[in-house]
This record gives sequence, C-alpha cells and structure tokens, in this order.
Amino acid sequence: MTEPLIRTLALARRYQMGKSAVDALRGVDLAVLPGEFVALVGPSGSGKSTLLHLIGGLVRPTGGEVWVGGLELGRSTDKQLVVYRRDTLGFIFQSFNLLPIKTAWENVAVPMMLAGVPTAQRKGRAMELLEQLGLGQRGDHRPSELSGGEQQRVAIARSLANRPRLILADEPTGNLDSRTGGEIMALLRRLVRDEGLTLLLVTHDMGVARYADRIVHLRDGVVQQIEVVAEPRGETLGALPRT
Ligand code: ADP
Repeated sequence: MTEPLIRTLALARRYQMGKSAVDALRGVDLAVLPGEFVALVGPSGSGKSTLLHLIGGLVRPTGGEVWVGGLELGRSTDKQLVVYRRDTLGFIFQSFNLLPIKTAWENVAVPMMLAGVPTAQRKGRAMELLEQLGLGQRGDHRPSELSGGEQQRVAIARSLANRPRLILADEPTGNLDSRTGGEIMALLRRLVRDEGLTLLLVTHDMGVARYADRIVHLRDGVVQQIEVVAEPRGETLGALPRT
C-alpha cells in the first residue's frame, strides 16, 4: 500500500488573543497520497489557511501531529523546518509575490539561490521551467510587463525550481479572471499528472476545487466531508481549459 505523503492526526491549532482563544483547527485527521491533488474548501474562517500553513511548516500545532514524509513538523526544530520548506515544498500565492525589480527568470531562480545551486546553472534551469510553462519568450520581462496569468505561471515555475514533492497553493486563481483561472488550473492539473507532484490547494471557489481528485470541506475547524471527484476538470483535456 502507498504511504501517504501528508498525514495529520487530531491536528489542532489554537490562537490565544489576550484572554480569549480562537480554535482555528479542532482535530483534523487527513491523509494525502503522493501524486494526489486535494482542494481545501470551506467558508471564511473555517481553518483552511491554518491547515495549509501547518502543513507548510509556517505555523506550529498546539495539538495533534502533522507528518510530511518522515518528518513530524510539530516536533521539528526551526532549522529542520527551513530545510523542509526549501527542499520539499513549493508555494503558490494569490498575489503571485514576484519581486518587481527582477526579471521572470531571475524570479524563478530565487529558490535555487537559497538552495545553493551554482550561479551558472540557475538561468538554464529557470529558462527550461519557463519554457515548460509556455513562457519561453518572456524570460527577460519584468512582472509589470506580464499579464496576471503570465505572472502566475512565472510563480508556478518558481515553485518548481527546487524540484519539490509537494506544492501548496493559496487561492492561486483569486486575482485572475475566470478564463485565465481555468487555464492556470488546467496547467496545475497537468503538472500533477505529468510530474507526479502532490498538490494541496486552498480555494473558496467550487469551480476551482473541481480540478482536484478530492475535495476536503472544512467547517469550524473540522473536516465536515471529503468528496471524491469522479472526473476532475481538465484531466482529459491536457492544458486546455474546458470553457
Ligand atoms: P480560512 O482560511 O478558512 O478563512 P483561517 O485558517 O484563516 O480560515 O482562520 C481560522 C480562524 O482562526 C479564524 O477565526 C481566524 O480569525 C483565526 N486566526 C487565523 N490566524 C490567526 C492568527 N494569526 N491570530 C489569531 N487568530 C487567527
């Protein structure tokens, strides 16, 4: 049997605010297999971002366990978490988070710099990734010279720079029109299928969630329901959006 890449056990996170406390997560048990695409959905305040940040090693649990590969993140040192994030994870954000003064390929190369990839190799690998995402002609452009969809594709290339096993995406289509969002989702779907990546994605948009293999519905800090998507959107269409 395949071992899950992610496993949470009674995972809990409480935020203490002076005398009052907010229980953002109240015991989440979740397993995600390698190569799976899982969407986290739920109303605002249901704990989606907290769960993503716990799995990203950005927030520590106040109860339970969160395992990624062989590492229990709650018991890991800060140093181990830095290495974990650098070598295992790619992050994609709603607002792209590209550095405005750097070109597309330089943005893609930032994580390589942090991982100590020799300077001479960075540009080649960055351009290769941009090429793979259909931006081969845009390597020397700055973010302000690119459309929103192109900027998000640069950010996706950057998330792949260090060959991560797991991509964490927080509302990656939130700043895009629906057509461009559909293209980005079809692209992510294809990357999961072709590269064997695991993708965990937070969204409030059920149309976006339908690209996933499974949809985890959160409510008030617990898993309310897990839905298996019979035929994920974009699965049979390659990089083409359905609309
Ligand atoms: P979602 O992503 O589903 O909107 P969040 O995980 O952001 O939900 O938030 C869950 C709950 O935890 C909310 O009530 C929110 O106000 C609270 N919360 C999240 N982050 C913090 C924080 N850093 N400090 C205090 N409360 C927080």
